[in-house]
Amino acid sequence: MDDSSIDAATKALSGLKDSKDGKTDALLEMARAGKPGDSLIAQLSSNPFFTAGFGLAALGTAMRYGSQGLRKSTELIRRRLLVDLEVTKHDDSYEWVLSWMTTQFQKQMDPTLSRKDLGFVESVIRRVTPGLHHLQIATARSKTPGGSERTAFSLVPGHGRHFLRYKNAFIKVNRERIGKSFDANGRPFETVTLTTLYYHRQIFEDIFQEAHALANQHTEGKTIIYTSRNVQWDRSGQPKRRRPFDSVVLEEGVADRILSDVREFISAREWYLDRGIPYRRGYLLYGPPGTGKTSFVQALAGELDFNIAMLSLSQRGLTDDLLNQLLLTVPPRTIVLLEDADAAFSNRRQADETGYTGAAVTFSGLLNALDGVASAEERIIFMTTNHIDRLDDALIRPGRVDMTMHLGDATLWQMEKLWERFYGDVDAGGEGKKTFIKRAEEIGLVDQVSTAALQGLFLYNKGDPEGAIGMVDQLAVKSRGR
Ligand code: ADP
Repeated sequence: MDDSSIDAATKALSGLKDSKDGKTDALLEMARAGKPGDSLIAQLSSNPFFTAGFGLAALGTAMRYGSQGLRKSTELIRRRLLVDLEVTKHDDSYEWVLSWMTTQFQKQMDPTLSRKDLGFVESVIRRVTPGLHHLQIATARSKTPGGSERTAFSLVPGHGRHFLRYKNAFIKVNRERIGKSFDANGRPFETVTLTTLYYHRQIFEDIFQEAHALANQHTEGKTIIYTSRNVQWDRSGQPKRRRPFDSVVLEEGVADRILSDVREFISAREWYLDRGIPYRRGYLLYGPPGTGKTSFVQALAGELDFNIAMLSLSQRGLTDDLLNQLLLTVPPRTIVLLEDADAAFSNRRQADETGYTGAAVTFSGLLNALDGVASAEERIIFMTTNHIDRLDDALIRPGRVDMTMHLGDATLWQMEKLWERFYGDVDAGGEGKKTFIKRAEEIGLVDQVSTAALQGLFLYNKGDPEGAIGMVDQLAVKSRGR
């Protein structure tokens, strides 16, 4: 044994520091006296004090290095062989992936498929892969046209690890919460990580395409309505069936004029971007309540295959900053509908019975928010108001409001069109229509009753034109009472 080994052993023994009874000192003496050729290790290992101290320490160190090495090499192998894909909750694809996973697991666990249907290998695989045992319920609320609440439930994979098999590839799915952070709506941040063999990495593309197609199926022919929840847009209930464009009857030519303007704007993206002009267009619809302003925007969105983000400027708690933030984060292919635009102009600062002092959006706040909207995506903003007289001219500027349209009470033309929509099939000769219109003119209903009231009468007398004619006088009473 050379001197350096002896020195090292001496140091190690000094570390034991248990010299109360002089036994360690004796050991030190032994180490110092060690001659070359003597087997110090043999002496040490036969010594009970060494076994209790140095030996265990060395063993511990070796194990620590050993396990670190093992961990590192496992990690290296993992990195070489596996591929991870992380989807965060903020990404649009998050919801699609969750729904896709649910359908995959449903297929995987389909009890109607027998072993015969599956074949031997598949049935063994199904037995050994744990599949989905931890589900979470996702509840979506929406309002029916009648105003009552409708609730829909769906099951999505819960937090934790799941395994699934897709096109011969095994995929580990890990849905987890990230720390203790929550988003503005109090929902935890989370991610879904898909892991598979590097060899199967191209499968991710297939998965996302399939998940996207599945999500589209869900919303195909439907309009998603977003409303503001705290500081962000949130889907309001399930996507709604598109409202047919011609179901909203505006004065002759008005609907088509707006539609072709929006279409032209959508197709002029390059023109705007090339000239550095913010790619946005504003519309203002004004007129008395119940003339179809909101419904028209919904029908227009349906026609253009857009969604709608709705916000009322008289909404409680809406501030300039919040409005600004919301307009900057509108989801893609979404028309913004700002209702009660006049709220930003009126001096509604008198406290109501709850002490609330009215909407907090100011005129300059609204203008700033509109001017701030800059996006490579088209930004279409519709504003509605029942009180055009309260609006300020500063709003009617290109980029803020480019087109203003009046939606008024039912004209003769609208009355006829609405009648045809409701009774076209049962009043083929048009005799009923003539009688109805004649009476409406006699009692001075034209341009005096809202299209909403007229539609209400026709709905009440569904399939019964005689009933509608019999009740037309009641509309005159209503319109006078306005
Ligand atoms: P506004 O936004 O002008 O107050 P809404 O769009 O909310 O009016 O209309 C209220 C109801 O009346 C809706 O159910 C809508 O279908 C109906 N309605 C109003 N105007 C029309 C119209 N011009 N054509 C068809 N339906 C209409």
